[in-house]
Amino acid sequence: MSLENDSVEKIIRHSCRVIQENKDLLTELDQAIGDGDHGANMARGFAALLDKVDDISARTFEHASKQAGMILVMTVGGASGPLFGSCFMAFGKGRNAMPSSQTEIAATLRDGAEAVMARGKSDVGAKTMLDVLVPVSDYLAEHGDCTPQDVRNIADMALESTRNMLATKGRAAFLGERSVGHIDPGAKSVALLVHAVCDVLEARI
Ligand code: ADP
Ligand code: MG
Repeated sequence: MSLENDSVEKIIRHSCRVIQENKDLLTELDQAIGDGDHGANMARGFAALLDKVDDISARTFEHASKQAGMILVMTVGGASGPLFGSCFMAFGKGRNAMPSSQTEIAATLRDGAEAVMARGKSDVGAKTMLDVLVPVSDYLAEHGDCTPQDVRNIADMALESTRNMLATKGRAAFLGERSVGHIDPGAKSVALLVHAVCDVLEARI
């Protein structure tokens, strides 16, 4: 797996499309174990990213990631805004150039996950976005020469694994045992974004 330098613009444009297309699904998932705003939150944040796509993609990866993260913090709202925002900001920290190799992509995702853990005071197993982000970054770090389809499969399996988890962080934690049986909306958003990046890697868009 490797990314090219013009991928930032393609990833932003395609991610925005995928998030808008799945807005209602994200809303439904959040209605089941939260307050039903996740679809609107993500759609608003990614529409704001799309507005600034030319500006963002003209920057170095470090500055692009910082700008994108700040836009998400300011526009997504909810608990997930600061979490996705910190994640995107961490992707670029100390990385002037777009991560291109599989090893670099794994490390970039790991840095994003660690920022979410710090900001959300959470870890894997709490039924959150981390339950897709961390398995995907671990898989990339531990398996050489992955195909985009391998990565989509891991993201989908990780997403499905959130169904039987008991939420211990975020709004869903208030439901206790009643959070079991539903997939996590933030984890679904991460899986959608992973799919979007994989589509760009395969140049299917
Ligand atoms: P809110 O919960 O404020 O309504 P959203 O609905 O936009 O915000 O986002 C909910 C998602 O945020 C959850 O599905 C979960 O994945 C993620 N989330 C919430 N709290 C945390 C946390 N402490 N750590 C990691 N992710 C979290
Ligand atoms: Mg919500």
